[in-house]
Amino acid sequence: MSQKKILLVEDEKNIRDILKDNLEYEGYTILEAEDGLKGLEIAKNENPDLIILDLMLPQMHGYDFIKQLKKTNPTIPIIIVSAKSEEIDKIKGLDLGADDYITKPFQIRELVSRIKAVFRRYNKTNEYIQNFSFKDFYIDFDKGILYKNNEKIDIYFYEFEILKYLIINKNKPVTRNDIVEAVWKAEGAISSRNIDTHIVNLRKLIEDDPADPKYIKTVFRIGYKFEI
Ligand code: CA
Repeated sequence: MSQKKILLVEDEKNIRDILKDNLEYEGYTILEAEDGLKGLEIAKNENPDLIILDLMLPQMHGYDFIKQLKKTNPTIPIIIVSAKSEEIDKIKGLDLGADDYITKPFQIRELVSRIKAVFRRYNKTNEYIQNFSFKDFYIDFDKGILYKNNEKIDIYFYEFEILKYLIINKNKPVTRNDIVEAVWKAEGAISSRNIDTHIVNLRKLIEDDPADPKYIKTVFRIGYKFEI
C-alpha cells in the first residue's frame, strides 16, 4: 500500500487506462496527461512522486518534456515507457535524467517492480541525513545516537530506524508496510501490529504525553506521520 502519486504522460488512451487500472490496484493515485504540455502543467501543480513517460508524444517529444520538467521539478523520478527499443534512445533518456527505461510491450508486473525499485532508491538517497534536532532532542544518524538535553537516551535499534524513516519523510504520511520495507528491508518481515508496538515505545521516549502525541501522529487509515 502506498499513497504515492504517479503521473502518466501517454497519448494512447487504452494504454493509459490499463496502466491506471493496474497502478490504482497497487495503491497509487494516478494523474493523467495525453501530451507533454499538459503533463508539465500537472507536474507543476500536483508535484507527483513519479512520472511514467511515453517518448512518442504529440506536440512535444518525451525528451523535450524531460528537459522542461528538470527546470521546474528536478527531483521527480521518471520512468520512460516507449516502443523505441534502440540502445541510443535508452542512453539519451537516461542521460537527460530519466531513472529507468522500459520497452513496450511490457508486463505490468515488471513496471510495478521498476516503480518500487525507483522509490526505494529515492528513499535510500535520503538516508544520508546526518542529524536532526527537535524540542530537547538531537539525533546523530551517523552514530545512531539519540540525545535528550545532551544526554544519551537508550533506544532499541529498530525503533531508532523507524524514527529515522519517519523523520526522513517528515510531514508525509507513511504506511506500516512502508516502514517494514524501509527498516527491515523486506516486505512482510514483521506484521503491522509490531509497528504499532514500536510506535507506542517511541512515543514514550519522545512525547510529553504519549497519549496525545505532538510529533508522531497517527494518520487515520494510512499509518503514521512525523509532524514538525
Ligand atoms: Ca505515444
